Order: sequence, then C-alpha cells, then structure tokens
Amino acid sequence: MKRPLYTLSSVVVPPRPTDEDYLPLPAAADPDAAIVVRASHVEDGDLVLARFPEPEWPGEPRVAGYFQEPYPAKTGGPCGECMDCRNELYRIDERDVHRYVALDGPGANVPCDIWPRNAPVLIIPGPIPADELTPEQEYPHSIVAFAQAAAVLLGEGWQVHAGYWGVTGRLSDPEGEDIAVVGVEDDGQLYVDVKSTQQALYPVRYNPEIHSDRFLDPRDLDLVAQVIAETVRENR
Ligand SMILES: [Zn+2]
Repeated sequence: MKRPLYTLSSVVVPPRPTDEDYLPLPAAADPDAAIVVRASHVEDGDLVLARFPEPEWPGEPRVAGYFQEPYPAKTGGPCGECMDCRNELYRIDERDVHRYVALDGPGANVPCDIWPRNAPVLIIPGPIPADELTPEQEYPHSIVAFAQAAAVLLGEGWQVHAGYWGVTGRLSDPEGEDIAVVGVEDDGQLYVDVKSTQQALYPVRYNPEIHSDRFLDPRDLDLVAQVIAETVRENR
C-alpha cells in the first residue's frame, strides 16, 4: 500500500551499522526498501529501524539514529497509565493522548513505546516474516557450553561444572576456587555472577546486564564466551 512519505524537513539516512552491537535484520527484510514516514502512518508489522532526534542546531538535517534491536510495530494509542506514559518527558493523560502514538507495547504489560504522531520514523514496510529457525538453530548451545568456551578463554586450569540439565555453568579457577556462575534469569537475561573476593562466604550477585552494552546472539558461541570471560576477568 502506498503511504505518504515524510517530507517536511530534511532527513538523512546513513547506512545501518553492521557491527556486533546491532541485531542483524531478518533475512526477509530488504534494507533498500526502507522509507521514512510519520509515526502516525506506521502500520502493524512494519519493522521499526530508526528515529530521528532533533538536530542540535535549527536548520540542520535530522539524522537517523538506528535502534540496535529493530522491532515489528504493534501500533495503538498510548495507554496513559504505564511508566512511560507517566514519565516526565510525556506526562500523557486523557487530554493529550491523541498527540501521540505507541509503536510497541500498548496493552502488552510493557511500557508504551511513545512517539509524537508527526515524528519521522525509518521503517521497512511489513509485515516481514521472522527468520524461520528451528529451536535447535535458534539455541544451538546450552548455557554450560558458553561457560566451557569462556573457561578456555580464561586460560589453563579453569574448569566448568554443569548445573542440572546444563542450565548453569559454574566456573572455577586453576586453584579450584569457585569464581562465577553463568545462567539465565527468568526474564531471559543471561547473567554472570562473579563471587566477590572480599566476601568469599557469600557470593555477591553481579549482574552486568551484558545484554545492554552489546547484542548477544545465542548462536554466537565465541562472542558470548568472550563477553563472559571479560566480565569474569574484570570483576573477580
Ligand atoms: Zn502507556
């Protein structure tokens, strides 16, 4: 379907970064098909790639700021009740709810992804089928396999002890001392608990939220192992 493109002021769309911080696009998504539309013209299933922050100086073009994890739009009105609707930036209530749209979240137990209706958005028009992966392709490695690969990177003598069903991996150093546990939180976040050397009796939960500083692909054994090993080295 033909949609009005965003034309009001100049926008610049550099190529999407391809480094490891950026989740690869689904195979079916064609980056050349990306268009800039107003947030109010985004439709369900469009892949949301970038926003356009206000330029620092008036008159400068707005440059696409890419999301590390593009997401399929799930459009609706802001709920007016969640933490993002109520935060200081928006303070959305019944009176001004019509000035905004939500491109993700409304009604899904997550905060609304709020956009001013007229804001430019870079999208690939959808719907875009997700990569069809079997569970084995999506999660080819157990958690303990990541811990084992990290132990190799940490050096000779490091050992891994698997928790039940391999869903955790306990790393011990060449002296045999338990140093860290690799596991997955209930919300899906991979974590590394590094035992504090100051409080040897009580392991201190260290959750560096390693998802947040770069994108970790569960298929990428080497990269995930590297992040685990770095986290252990920096925090032991
Ligand atoms: Zn909301």
